[in-house]
Amino acid sequence: MADVSKLRIAARATSPTATRPGHPVSDTVTPAGQVLRVLRRVGPATRGELSRQTGFSLSAVNRVVGELLGRSLLRDRPELTVGGVVGRPQIPLDLNTDAFFAVGVHIDDCGIRCVAGDLRGRVLDCLEFDVPATAGAAVPVVAAALHRFRLAFPARCALWVGVAGDGRADRRAVRGLAFGWDDVPDAAWSAAIPVPVTVAPYVGAMADAERWALELSGRPSPSSYLYLHVDEPFGAAWIVDGRIPVPRRGAGTIGHLATGSDVPCPCGRVGCLEVTVADRTLLDAAVRDGVLGSGTAPRGVGDLYEAAEGGSRAAAALLDSRSDTIGRAIAVMRDIVNPDVVAVGGRGLAAYPPGRRIIARSYARASALPALPLTFSSFGERIGDAGALGASLSAVYTDPVGALRRGAWGRRAARLSYDPPLDRFCG
Ligand SMILES: [Zn+2]
Repeated sequence: MADVSKLRIAARATSPTATRPGHPVSDTVTPAGQVLRVLRRVGPATRGELSRQTGFSLSAVNRVVGELLGRSLLRDRPELTVGGVVGRPQIPLDLNTDAFFAVGVHIDDCGIRCVAGDLRGRVLDCLEFDVPATAGAAVPVVAAALHRFRLAFPARCALWVGVAGDGRADRRAVRGLAFGWDDVPDAAWSAAIPVPVTVAPYVGAMADAERWALELSGRPSPSSYLYLHVDEPFGAAWIVDGRIPVPRRGAGTIGHLATGSDVPCPCGRVGCLEVTVADRTLLDAAVRDGVLGSGTAPRGVGDLYEAAEGGSRAAAALLDSRSDTIGRAIAVMRDIVNPDVVAVGGRGLAAYPPGRRIIARSYARASALPALPLTFSSFGERIGDAGALGASLSAVYTDPVGALRRGAWGRRAARLSYDPPLDRFCG
């Protein structure tokens, strides 16, 4: 039976609302956060360039930079100093990508993935574990991963842990198990994990990662950005001026958009979007129609991708029909919201490339507004890693000084050392 949980427009990507003890006090980006964001976007920059990019006075930039240098979030790059200019040459500043690591956690078909990344969100290492029966039992797994990363990167401080996945996403990923990160009490996180932990809505975290990648590609940051995650969990996040507007009555949902299919939905209606495009629906149809042959039960939707790639026209037809439905649903969302950018991500896009073309074609045909091509994810099958790491770095890029204060070592000077026998870090 299909998952009864709702598809919803994910809540707040930049500062996730569904958070655990380590969430930022405020979602307002501080001046220090703005300086970090500029350096993340443009690379090494002088104080003068930072002043121009942020609109802050040079003295304000000097103050902020001094604090960030003191906390090892920035470093000087004297080797990049440009000579020949009038006056004293300015030494460029850069993010210090060697001092810290953040950990992103998410669940995919293979299990719990714990990814360590640097301050730019670049993956340093990855560990995979089997998914335990409950989220509570997964907390020690995350703690063990953090411990192993600390041993692997003795020169780096553990900064933050970000878990991408609300209860709905994880119950879906771990079919048949009563698994949901929302079930973990705050005290269980803080007892097991010595750094702050943020639990972010899955689709919102993926949307933020995609928007970040767009920014890094040099394209202007759109004020209105619509992201569709066309995978499990299927969902949408609409980001306006860096935030996801969430009405007081809670986030909306596109899960029960009528598609015209004959798939019954747990809500009592027939043809709702969520159940129509669900992996389970496709697999049930494939088994019923003998598309995957008889005998063994399908392991997952990957079997259908493999069959289509192997030349099965029936498998391709099922996947293409789903892509067509998704393309039309994206058009409906786009026409309502009319954003500057419509981005689409999900592992299936990489696993079944023809799906992209069909989604794009159906979307273009169904949208009533002037053409706005879809922007497809640059992360491919690693979108989950990027989103989870983004969730772990969100607080740092919002209020870096506040984020470091909340770390286990926050009240001490950041001393970049680790003592493995004592399992003690940073002083
Ligand atoms: Zn429904």
